[in-house]
Amino acid sequence: MLQNTVYLIDDEPEMVELLSEAVNMIGLETRGFTQASVFFEQIIVFAKDSVLILDLNMPEMDGIEVMRRLASMDNPPALILVSGHDAGVLHSAEKLCEAHELELIASLAKPLSLEGICQLLKQYTHRTLIDESEIVKSSNIRITPSEIERAISHDELVMYYQPQVAVATGMLTGVEALVRWQHPEHGLLFPGYFIDVAEKNDLIGMLTQWIIRAVVNQEKKWQEQGMSITVSVNISAENITSLTLPEQLSKLLEDNKLDPNRLVLEVTESALMGELVTSLDILTRLRLKGLKLSIDDFGTGYSSLSQLHKVPFTELKIDKSFVGKISVDDEARAIVKTCIMLGHELNMKVVAEGVVDEETLEKLRRLGCDVAQGYYISRPVTEEKLVVWIKEHL
Ligand code: C2E
Ligand code: MG
Ligand code: MG
Repeated sequence: MLQNTVYLIDDEPEMVELLSEAVNMIGLETRGFTQASVFFEQIIVFAKDSVLILDLNMPEMDGIEVMRRLASMDNPPALILVSGHDAGVLHSAEKLCEAHELELIASLAKPLSLEGICQLLKQYTHRTLIDESEIVKSSNIRITPSEIERAISHDELVMYYQPQVAVATGMLTGVEALVRWQHPEHGLLFPGYFIDVAEKNDLIGMLTQWIIRAVVNQEKKWQEQGMSITVSVNISAENITSLTLPEQLSKLLEDNKLDPNRLVLEVTESALMGELVTSLDILTRLRLKGLKLSIDDFGTGYSSLSQLHKVPFTELKIDKSFVGKISVDDEARAIVKTCIMLGHELNMKVVAEGVVDEETLEKLRRLGCDVAQGYYISRPVTEEKLVVWIKEHL
C-alpha cells in the first residue's frame, strides 16, 4: 500500500493545484479534491500514514462534517486544518478533532505558507518512517490488572522526581514525584500505560498507597541527609472517595516525623467532577491536617470557577498544552496570563508545567508566574540523579 499520501480538500481549485505542486516537490504523492463528497466517493481505504489537508470552510460539505465522517472510518488520515476564519474557529475545530480521536498535525489560518506546510509534512512523514518500529512495539503493550498487582507486590515500580524552580531566582522549590514501572519484559513504562488500567480495575487505591509510602520513605531519607524537599504526589479521582484518607495520611506522616506541609497532593480538575461533597470533605480535612493541595492540568478540565473557589487549593498548575505555546500563540499566552492572575487573586501559588525553553521561562517571568517545571529545567530523574542535579544547581 502507498505510504504517506497527502489528500487535499479545498473548494478553491487554484488552492488545490498550488498545494499539490508544492507537496509533489517534496516527493510526496497527492490526491486533490474540490468537493468533500467526491473525496468520500473515491477514497474508501486510506493509504498508510496518510495526511489530509482540510479546508474548514466549504459550501457543500464543510470541514467539520468531514471530520465527523472520518472519525467513523478505519485508519483515518492525520489532519492539517485550514481556515480563513478567525483563530477561535480553528481552536474549536482542534477540540472536535481531539474529541473524535483524530490525529492533528497542525491547524493553520489562511493565507497559507506553502513552505510552512511542506516543513510540517516533512517532519510528519519523517517521523512515521523512522519511528514506526517503536510505535508498533509500544502500542502492542497491553497491561493486565494482574500484572499491576504483581508490580505493586514485587516492588517493580520506581519513583522519578522532576525539579520545580522559582521563576524569579531559579532556586529549587520542590519536586513532583512521577511513577514509572520497571517492567520485566517491556522495560521502563510510563504512567500512560498503566494508571488508567489501575483506575478502571479498582487498583488505584493500592497503587497510590505504594506511591505515597515510597515518597514518604524518600522524604525521610532526604531529611536524614539534611535536605528538606517539598514533594508533590499525583492522586486520582478514586483516591478522594475514601473518607479515611486524611487520617491515614496524617498518621503515616506523624509516624515518620514528617511535616505535612512538605507534601502536596495534586488533583486534576476532572477528578472533582464526581461526588463533589465527598471530595470536598476529604480535601478540606487534608488541608486542615496541614497538607497542601494543587489543582493539576488546570485549563483542560471542566471545573467551574465556583468549584475552584470552594476547594481549599494552595497551588494552581497551568497545563503544559498552554505553557508550551506561549511563545507562538497569542491565545495560549492570554490563557496563561489569566490563569496566573486568577491563581494569585485566590492566593494560590502558580506553577507552569511543560517549560521547554528559555524563551518560555522568560515570558513566564514577565507574567509573574511563581514556579516553573519542565524539560528545560530538568526531565524527571531518579533519586540519585536528583541529588546530583541539586548539587549542580546550588
Ligand atoms: P502530570 O501530573 O501533569 O505530570 C506531568 C507530566 O508531564 C509527566 O509525564 C512529565 O514527565 C511530563 N513533563 C514534564 N515536563 C515536561 C515538558 O517540558 N514537556 C512535556 N511534553 N512533558 C513534560 P508522565 O510522568 O508521563 O506522567 C503523565 C501523567 O500520569 C501525569 O501528568 C499524571 O497525571 C499521571 N501520573 C504520573 N505519576 C503518577 C502517580 O504517581 N500517581 C498517579 N495517580 N498518577 C500519576
Ligand atoms: Mg501532576
Ligand atoms: Mg499536569
